[in-house]
Amino acid sequence: MDPRFIRNFSIVAHIDHGKSTLADQLLLKTGAITEREFKEQLLDDLDVEKERGITVKARTVALRYKHTDGETYELNLIDTPGHVDFHYEVSRSLAACEGALLLVDAFQGVQAQTVANAYAAIEQDLEIIPVVNKIDLPVTRIDDVLEEVETVLGLDPYGAVRVSAKKGLNIEDCLAAIVERIPAPQGAPDAPLRALVFDSKYDSYKGVFTYVRLKEGTVKKGDTIRFMRGGSDHDVIEIGQFAPLRKECKSLGPGQVGYILTGIKELDQVTIGDTVTHAGRPAAEALPGYQKPKQMVFCGMYPIDGRDFEKLRDEMQKLALNDSSFSYAPETSDALGFGFRCGFLGMLHMEIVQQRLESEQDVDLIQTAPNVTYEIEERSGDVYKIDNPQDVPDAGVIEEFREPIARVNFILSKDHIGPIMQLCADRRGEYKNTEYLGPDRAQLTYELPLAEIVYDMYDKLKSVTSGYGTMDYEVIGFKAADLVKMDIMVKGERVDALATIVHKSNADNRGRQLCKRLKKEISKHQFEIPIQAAIGGRIIARETISAFRKNVTAKCYGGDISRKRKLLQKQKEGKKRMRSFGSVEIPQKAFLSVLSTD
Ligand code: GDP
Ligand code: MG
Repeated sequence: MDPRFIRNFSIVAHIDHGKSTLADQLLLKTGAITEREFKEQLLDDLDVEKERGITVKARTVALRYKHTDGETYELNLIDTPGHVDFHYEVSRSLAACEGALLLVDAFQGVQAQTVANAYAAIEQDLEIIPVVNKIDLPVTRIDDVLEEVETVLGLDPYGAVRVSAKKGLNIEDCLAAIVERIPAPQGAPDAPLRALVFDSKYDSYKGVFTYVRLKEGTVKKGDTIRFMRGGSDHDVIEIGQFAPLRKECKSLGPGQVGYILTGIKELDQVTIGDTVTHAGRPAAEALPGYQKPKQMVFCGMYPIDGRDFEKLRDEMQKLALNDSSFSYAPETSDALGFGFRCGFLGMLHMEIVQQRLESEQDVDLIQTAPNVTYEIEERSGDVYKIDNPQDVPDAGVIEEFREPIARVNFILSKDHIGPIMQLCADRRGEYKNTEYLGPDRAQLTYELPLAEIVYDMYDKLKSVTSGYGTMDYEVIGFKAADLVKMDIMVKGERVDALATIVHKSNADNRGRQLCKRLKKEISKHQFEIPIQAAIGGRIIARETISAFRKNVTAKCYGGDISRKRKLLQKQKEGKKRMRSFGSVEIPQKAFLSVLSTD
């Protein structure tokens, strides 16, 4: 295929601005899918994605489009996740493109992740086509939105395409803009092969699909290829593209995007960011790869039924192979038994993994409250990172306790600036900058401890701005802070899985909140249960659960047996997610209550 007739592009957008709908609409208009398939949201095929309406794992699809110039073009749409946790996968996908459609909701306008995604595309030197979506909405602010695109992102609003992905309006304009404005890929077909591995997927029949974007050279069935970093050689059994179903082809040339099958059975043999070349005629140099994503949020995950431990280990291993940004390591807790300490890119990533483990793998989990990674410098000069509050050494040996700091961008209406500034001040934020997007909306920039963001920033932002404010963050480094480990004692005994790291200035506050919260979560027993928060040996807060045996059916006066059964069933389910600690039963929710603020 002549590279002049190839275009590689992504769609980037803030969540819910219509990326999946537009992608499907492009598939529909180019005949890749039918009207019925359009209605079923094709590109999001993992269960979790369907349920949550977000795209997690990047995917790619080749479209054939006949332009008004009479030529047929191959348009490779490379899907990207839209959420802040997945910057890594976004930049990975963008590296395989020459251009991007920047989709903006005609009413909501530029939002925090519009900005983050646009910057990621600018960083990769991509041609960006602004697309205003949802022009069919009864109320739109198209002119304001275009002004925001210009002032915040520095993009020319005159070239913006206006579409309705849902109704299929002006999709032709979009396709034409892709052909006319996104540069064709370059690269010589007879040069030594260099193909970038930007994704991989395991298939139980075919083995590992390696997704590649060819930069130079040509690859054919029967060739012997080499992974330049991995150093292994393999024979090509099949090559092809997804359109969106798998379609074999004879060869892939410069600029093309497709898959290679070599019969590799293990996902870990294929490294994302590696370069594929020919074993017989290797390229001199590999393409620049990707930086490994850094896990910033950690939590413990324990099977409720201890017998599920091995099963959980297997499932975690599978998951880690499929999602290189997820990590896990065995750990034990006095309170919870054998489990794993897991690392995630962010909070959403954590929730998705938990949901995947539970729904797809059928393991019930107890999850501890998430914490960020900390850096400790000891008096001895030793410097190391910890990702578990239980690993904090004695205060006496610590020279400096450092925490990750993030640069946070908020996009909100003018009226909400005051309350958000207050919120950031309460969370040890450092003000950086305000930029107006138009007369009513502004972008506010702060530097905040990542721990404070993980704690409750999203919820607070949503409640302060009635759901309209958005935020995005990026970790920029570590900074020393007055941090201490806070222990929780239930009936006189330390519950290791409830320990947290807190800032000294609000330790008392958090201690009191947490004890109150636990009092609510732990039901009454036949004996009194004191709950205490302590720093070092000092008790800073205390609550007591009085003795009482809860009888859930007591409120049903005889009669309604089905209601009684329901209540009992409910109680049983509630029990399931419970761990006995000493003689006290602590429900799953209690381990997460460290996070709540009310
Ligand atoms: P994504 O999160 O960016 O992938 O967004 P989706 O494609 O899942 O769309 C989010 C919501 O917006 C869905 O309920 C869509 O039906 C709706 N939507 C998408 N495009 C349009 C449009 O052009 N007009 C209207 N009115 N709604 C749209
Ligand atoms: Mg989507």
